Amino acid sequence: MPESPLENLVIIGSGPAGWSAAIYASRAQLEPVVYEGAITEANRMAGTLPLGQLALTSEVENYAGFPHGDLGAFLDSALPADRRGMMAPHAGEGVTGPELMELMRQQAVNFGSRVITDDIVKVDFSKRPFRLSPSGGGEVLAKSVIVATGASANWLGLESEEHFKNRGVSACAVCDGALPRFRNRDLVVVGGGDSAVEEATYLTKFASRVHLVHRRDELRASKIMAKRAFDDPKIKIHFNAVLDEVLGNDEQGVTGVRLKGTVPPADETTLEAAGVFLAIGHTPNTAFLEGQLELTPKQYIVWTKHFRTATSVDGVFAAGDVADDYYRQAISAAGTGCMAALDAERWLAHG
Ligand code: NAP
Repeated sequence: MPESPLENLVIIGSGPAGWSAAIYASRAQLEPVVYEGAITEANRMAGTLPLGQLALTSEVENYAGFPHGDLGAFLDSALPADRRGMMAPHAGEGVTGPELMELMRQQAVNFGSRVITDDIVKVDFSKRPFRLSPSGGGEVLAKSVIVATGASANWLGLESEEHFKNRGVSACAVCDGALPRFRNRDLVVVGGGDSAVEEATYLTKFASRVHLVHRRDELRASKIMAKRAFDDPKIKIHFNAVLDEVLGNDEQGVTGVRLKGTVPPADETTLEAAGVFLAIGHTPNTAFLEGQLELTPKQYIVWTKHFRTATSVDGVFAAGDVADDYYRQAISAAGTGCMAALDAERWLAHG
């Protein structure tokens, strides 16, 4: 196989961090290559399809620069017809996650970023140039790398949860909530953070009622999101309870859940439900690094210099949720993507 050309910068990941890094790096004439991820069923199940977690959300109300308004004409003019055609029509309210990601991707492409729709499944950071292995085969040589692979939804690990995945159990309301099986039925969302409230609120469009199940007596969600849940007549919150088992059968899929109290007397309750949506946090996508970068105990990449995106390997930078278990916002991910591109540019210039 012929030796692949030596790339200045390879960006792995295609969320807000990856695209912001690509926009800055391409404007700096680094001619970056972005590995945006492969479109596979395995990635769909793992929540690692191209365009990251934002592509799995509905409206994005807190990304600066996108107030409510009808973006339809702007989207039509900014995106090529083939990409625009793959998206849902604009709802005329505010920007959605998928729209925002398509706009970022296009902005990176406009400045010359090359995009490859494949996963990097293995890396060798032990010597330079760095060697990256795409799932489609071959090897990519790179002078510098930005890891922006984000994080994916967690599962509880119950046998019944695994058994009914794709048959009523999901970790993405926006991806699956509109399926006919969930219409006008009771649904369950597990979790107490912003994601859980967002998913519960979204599901009220289709469900007759949404049970929000949280293990403590207080939501973790921000005040404005929590108020939304409390005020919504279709959402019933079950505090101090955990999902003990998903109930169902092979014919119908999910038919209900058994909850267990987290405080004495730890009663068990059974609810009828056609679907269960997990919203219990995320795990960073760092397994493919096989320990070659220093990670935190929770497996997030460690930034080794104060207020820089440097990692434990010189020339490898990290941006976005893969290195951030604290802020985890689209706009902070985009900010660190910009920082990583500037850090890579300076590192390439001065070593
Ligand atoms: P999160 O804030 O970490 O919340 C996870 C929730 O799941 C917590 O309530 C946690 O309970 C619960 N949980 C975790 N493990 C559990 C288990 N094994 N069993 C039962 N419950 C479990 O995660 P997130 O909601 O995905 O939010 C992540 C970040 O994204 C946050 O910074 C959030 O602000 C942001 N976000 C923002 C928006 C928005 O602004 N529109 C929307 C979505 C997400 P405890 O509370 O007891 O720990």
